[in-house]
Amino acid sequence: MSTSLTWTATDVENTMRIVLQGSVNEDADFESLLATIKTRQHVVISLKGIGALNSCGVREWVNFVREIPAEIQIELEDCSPVVVSQLNMISNFVGHAKIVSVVAPFICDSCGNEEERILNVADGTFPELTGTTCGKCHDEMVFDDIEDSYFAFLDAGT
Ligand SMILES: [Zn+2]
Repeated sequence: MSTSLTWTATDVENTMRIVLQGSVNEDADFESLLATIKTRQHVVISLKGIGALNSCGVREWVNFVREIPAEIQIELEDCSPVVVSQLNMISNFVGHAKIVSVVAPFICDSCGNEEERILNVADGTFPELTGTTCGKCHDEMVFDDIEDSYFAFLDAGT
């Protein structure tokens, strides 16, 4: 995985879909991304590819979301586990953005296989964590984190 932050943007009808990739740190430069977002009304940002986020990066990110004009509809999808932990620690991490879905870690007790699943949280309620089948042995997998803390941001009512 690349260490610097990169992004690609694709227009799908009236929505701009942005995929962010890499690490968010003191070198993260959101200026060109912000300028691009400001030209649109509806933007979906995928955060699946965010592998690391340090405290300087969090500051850059919070400044970035704060500068997105309120009239622009922003959705964050496929938030990676490092993003989820920041969501749960920092109340202004998302600004006025809506969290659509998160990446959640699962583990198979039978064979030890670990897999990630995308869980939809757009309605603001805790997602269903049962019914995930292991890709290797087809047993049911269990959520590999603490449900109440991983999804605590849903209770914050953002
Ligand atoms: Zn298994």
